This record gives sequence, structure tokens and C-alpha cells, in this order.
Amino acid sequence: MTRKLGSGRLVIATHNAGKLKEIGALLAPYGVECISAGALGLPEPDETGTTFVENALLKARAAAEASGIVALADDSGLSVEALGGRPGVYTADWAERQWFEGDPGRDWYMAMGKVEGMLAAKGPETPRDAAFHCVLALAWPDGESAVYEGTCAGSLTWPPRGTMGFGYDPVFVPAGHAQSFAEIDPDEKHRISHRADAFAKLVSEQFAS
Ligand code: IMP
Repeated sequence: MTRKLGSGRLVIATHNAGKLKEIGALLAPYGVECISAGALGLPEPDETGTTFVENALLKARAAAEASGIVALADDSGLSVEALGGRPGVYTADWAERQWFEGDPGRDWYMAMGKVEGMLAAKGPETPRDAAFHCVLALAWPDGESAVYEGTCAGSLTWPPRGTMGFGYDPVFVPAGHAQSFAEIDPDEKHRISHRADAFAKLVSEQFAS
């Protein structure tokens, strides 16, 4: 049987304030108090895994060991079927620009263009199926862990459409919809996303009465 969280403190293994806020709001109704790994000054481990599960576990385990408190980490990305699942765990890396003087950072338009260029090179008949994945990993300081995997299937569109959302949202059209993730109302995106799917699985196992 999977170990249960109960109420109490939970370290969110992220240095991203946006992620902490979103996860904190999702877990607040269950009496869980979220603290970020950043606020505790915990180091960020290198994401050396080759799967979403490996990377999520690696981040959760590092935070649980360093803090002595149960930890939650997530890893997510886009897998394109005709590209053998790429960019996959390298989704964020594909947006990494060269470090021009004073202009470091990520360029999502470039990353979306790279995916599109690879698909176009395979010919106009190439299937455009893709899916967003999200893995949530819980790790206890004694080494026990649990993982929850969420997906959102869809297809890629070009050119990018819409101004909401982030990352690859403008080129991803979820199955059963005509609009891209960047055109859909954010509340609707949060209901159908890969993250919502993974969280629903976590909540149903961890907090079902
Ligand atoms: P990580 O989970 O923080 O390692 O980031 C994975 C990357 O996947 C993000 O930087 C985004 O580019 C991409 N990604 C994950 N979820 C979404 C989403 O809901 N919309 C658009 N891009 C996403």
C-alpha cells in the first residue's frame, strides 16, 4: 500500500515561485503546508535522468534527504510521436539560447521552430501527434517514494497561435479542441492539462477518505 502524506509540512522541490504558488493552492484544501526548496536554501540537483520519472524522483529525493521533510517534485515536457518522443526530458533545454552578452535565457519561439523544422524535414504527411507529460514524485526522508504520471494528448499546429500560457502552449492543440493551449481559457487549460491529470491521481490516492 502506498504511504500517505497526511497533513503537515511538505517541501516543494522547486526554486520557481510560480510553481510553488500553483502547487500550494492545489494542496491547501488538504491541510498541507508547502515550503519551497529555495526558501530552505537547498541545492538544486542536476537533472541527469533520461525519463520524466527519473528526473522527478531525483529532485524529490534530493530535497527530502537534505531537509528531513517529505518532498514533492515535478518534471514535465512535450513528446512528439514522429520525433521518437523528443524533446521529452530536454523540452526546456531546446529553448536555451547561447549566452549573448547581457541576454541569457530561453527562447520558446526558437524551440517551437526547431520542433516544426524537424517535422517538416520528415515530409508533409508526417503525423503531428504529441503529448504533454507531467510526473509528480513524492519522497520521504527514509527513502520511500511514490510517482503519479499525467498526460494530455493532442497535436501540433503551425504557426504558433495565442498569447496566454507559456512554453510550447502556442503550438499545442489538445485532443477534442480547436484552439491551442495559448488560446484556451486558462481555467479550462488547468482542468484538462497533464499537470491536472497527475495532480488528480495524487490527490485521489493520497487524500481519499
Ligand atoms: P520542467 O518540468 O520545469 O523541467 O520544465 C519542462 C518544460 O516543459 C517547461 O520549461 C515548458 O517549456 C514545457 N512545458 C511543461 N508543461 C507545459 C505546459 O503546460 N505548456 C507549455 N509548455 C510546457
